[in-house]
Amino acid sequence: MTNPAEPAGVRPAVRSVPAYPFTPIDAPIKLDQNESAYDFPADLKVVATGRMLARPWNRYPDLHADTLKERVAAFEGWDPAGVVLTPGSNVLIKLLTELAGIGQTVLTVSPTFSVYTLEARLLDARLVQVPLNPDFSLPVGALKAALRENRPGVLYVTQPHAPTGFVDAEAAVREVVEAAEGWVVVLDEAYHQFSGTDYRNLVRAGENRLSLRTFSKAWGLAGVRLGYALGSIALATQLQKLVPAFNVGTLAQAALEVALENPGYVAERAAEVVRERERVIAALADHPVWTVHPSRANFYLIRTPDAEAAYRHLLSRGIVVRRQDRLPMLEGCLRVAVGTPAENDALIAAAREFR
Ligand SMILES: *Cc1c(COP(=O)(O)O)cnc(C)c1O
Repeated sequence: MTNPAEPAGVRPAVRSVPAYPFTPIDAPIKLDQNESAYDFPADLKVVATGRMLARPWNRYPDLHADTLKERVAAFEGWDPAGVVLTPGSNVLIKLLTELAGIGQTVLTVSPTFSVYTLEARLLDARLVQVPLNPDFSLPVGALKAALRENRPGVLYVTQPHAPTGFVDAEAAVREVVEAAEGWVVVLDEAYHQFSGTDYRNLVRAGENRLSLRTFSKAWGLAGVRLGYALGSIALATQLQKLVPAFNVGTLAQAALEVALENPGYVAERAAEVVRERERVIAALADHPVWTVHPSRANFYLIRTPDAEAAYRHLLSRGIVVRRQDRLPMLEGCLRVAVGTPAENDALIAAAREFR
C-alpha cells in the first residue's frame, strides 16, 4: 500500500509545498479576503444574466475570449494583442512562473503576496526574496544587487504592495524596473484603484514589462474570476501560448462585458473605500495597544501584541480578519479589509473594547 499522503509519481516539489493557506471562517462581517464589500450592482446582474441566457452553452467560448479582450483593451487604452486574459490574475502568476521562472529565478521581496512564492515552489523555480526596508518601502539597492547576482527570470513588484498596503515613490519603482534588463518585470496592480497609482506608462516603455490587473477587488467580481496582463505584443504573445484554450467561460465573458460597458460604479466605490480606510485608521490612532499601519489599498495592517488574542476577540464580535503574524516583519499583525461603513463601525467598536 502506498501512503495516501505520499502518492507515487508526484514531483517532490509539489509534495513538499503545503496547500494554499486559507481556511474559510463563517462570520457575519467578512474582512479577511480584501474583497469588495459590495456585490456587483443588481441592475447589471440582470443585464448580465439575460446575456448569459441568450448565449449557447453547448458551444465552446471564443478561443482566447477575443471580444472581451478587445473590450478590456479599449477600457485600458491598450493594443488587444498586448492583453492576456485568465480566470483571475492568480492564474497569470502561475503562467508567468512557467514563462520565466522555471529553470530560472523568481525574484520578489519579503513579506510578499503568497501566490508568487507558492508557484515558484510548486514549479521548482529558484526563489530569491529580498527583505523590505523597515518602513515597508522597496529595498532598491538590495533588489538591484539581486538582479545582478542571479540568473534572470521574473521580478514581481506589487503597487500598492500586498500585504502591507505601502505605495513606493515612483522614482524607486522606476529605478528597480529599469535595472531589470533581461528579466520579465511584473507590476502587480491588483489594488491600483485605491491608491491612484498607475504604471501603464512605465510598462509601455519596455518590452519586458507587464501590468497585472484584476476584476476581483475594485470591480466587486471576485466570484466571476477574471484577471489580465497588459504588456508588449512580443511578451503577451509568448505568455498567451501558455494559456489553456477556452479558459474564460461563456458566462464569465458575458458578465465581464456588461461590467466593462458600465464601469462608472468602480470609481465611486473606490472613493468610498479610500474615505472609509482613512476614517478607520484615524479612529484607531489613539488605541492603547494596537497600532495601524498606513495603507493605500482596500485593506490595512493592525499590529497587536498578541495576534491570536486580537483575532479571537474580533471573531467573538462577528468579525473575521486575516492573520499575517507569521510573516517576516509582520509580528502581531492582522490584515483587515475595508468594509461597509457599518462594518467598519463594528470593527472600530470591537477594537476599542480590547485592551
Ligand atoms: C487579490 C490579488 C490578486 C488578484 O487575484 P485574482 O486571482 O485576480 O482574484 C493579485 N495580486 C495580488 C497581490 C492580490 O492581492
